[in-house]
This record gives sequence, C-alpha cells and structure tokens, in this order.
Amino acid sequence: TSFSELSVDKDIKRVLSKFEKPTPIQATCWPISLSGKDVIGIAETGSGKTLAFVVPAIVHIKSINSETYPSNKPSVLVVSPTRELAMQIQEQCSLFDVTCGIKSACIYGGVSKEDQRKSLRKGVHIVVATPGRLLDLVNENICDISKVSYLVLDEADRMLDKGFEDDIRKIIRKTRKDRQTAMFSATWPESIRKLANDYLNRPVRITI
Ligand code: AMP
Repeated sequence: TSFSELSVDKDIKRVLSKFEKPTPIQATCWPISLSGKDVIGIAETGSGKTLAFVVPAIVHIKSINSETYPSNKPSVLVVSPTRELAMQIQEQCSLFDVTCGIKSACIYGGVSKEDQRKSLRKGVHIVVATPGRLLDLVNENICDISKVSYLVLDEADRMLDKGFEDDIRKIIRKTRKDRQTAMFSATWPESIRKLANDYLNRPVRITI
C-alpha cells in the first residue's frame, strides 16, 4: 500500500509525502471513511490513528466547504479526553493549513476561555476539544456545533473512564443527525459498544 493509490488530491498527498507509506490503521481506515461509512478503530496511540481520521476529515471539508469561509460553525469536530491529546491532534490538523487552507482550533479546560473565543471568532473548519470546555463554549453560543457533519470520538474508552459519558452524549446530540462518525478506542468493553450502538450508523469495525 502506498499514498499514490489513495484517492485524495495533490495538496493532501503533498502533506503526506513526508511519510514513506500509510500505517496499517491508515491503510484500512481511509477507504472506509472516504466512502462515507462510519468506522470504529480499535487502536493505540502511536499507530498513526490521528491521520487515519484527519485525512478523511480534510477531504470531507474540501467537498462541502470549497465555496465557504471558515466560521464559528465547524463542519468537523474531534472530541478528546485530554488537553495533551487534543493539542497533538490539532497539530496534525494544522499540517493542512498552509497547503489546503484548513483552519482549526483547540478547545480545552483549565485555561482562560478568551484566546479560545478569539480563535473561534476568526473562523475554523475543525474544532478539536475536550468535552467540558466545549460544552461551555457551545452554551455561550461561541461555538456552534449544529453543522458538524464529520464527528470523531478519540480514545472513547478513556473519555468514559474520565466520567465524560453524559457530556459526550450531549455533544453528539447537538451535531447533525446525518453526520459521518468515527470512533477510536484502545479497548472494546460493553460501555463502548453501547455508545457505538446508540450513535454510529452501521459502522465498520477494524482492529489493528
Ligand atoms: P498517532 O498514533 O496518531 O498519535 O501518531 C503517532 C506518530 O506517527 C505521529 O507523530 C505521526 O506524525 C506519525 N505518523 C503518522 N502517520 C505516519 C506514517 N504514515 N508514517 C510514519 N509516521 C506516521
């Protein structure tokens, strides 16, 4: 498997060209997500799972947003259990800023909201967020997630372990009903199966 077989445009390929070849989760996940299906990836950090969901997210944004500017209504939302993970994810999203003009913001608790409000006001295509602070900014009408049509729940098992289940359910219910959803988890316990069953649409499950 190589990047050249991948059905994405040259700007995206240019970003990926710094790597030699797709990791197994990328090679498996990309065709599924690019065809519009929901996916569940059972994979650990270090597997390349971030680009496994970020690349289809970029394709998704380009397909719907070619004529529109970034706004406080992102079309892609990535929910993460921790600030550190959210920052790492946004770093990989920002690879697509220079070449593709895709804007992203990182939203997490424990710091002042003002810089986060500012970055949302500037306009974004992607929001990467931890659950509590995201809901705060949604409730303040600073962030509008009602247009989210591509949703990622990253490290879903860790989010449940941290007691975010109610927040996650609230967040998911505020996004578009016809959205595409990708869920990643290191483990596959009953609580995660139930979450997937409630919110994913005929997902393809892959284990790496
Ligand atoms: P992740 O599992 O998403 O946290 O990724 C772990 C690391 O692998 C990150 O530093 C990525 O930049 C890197 N990475 C992602 N995709 C590839 C690839 N296809 N080849 C080599 N490294 C990669």
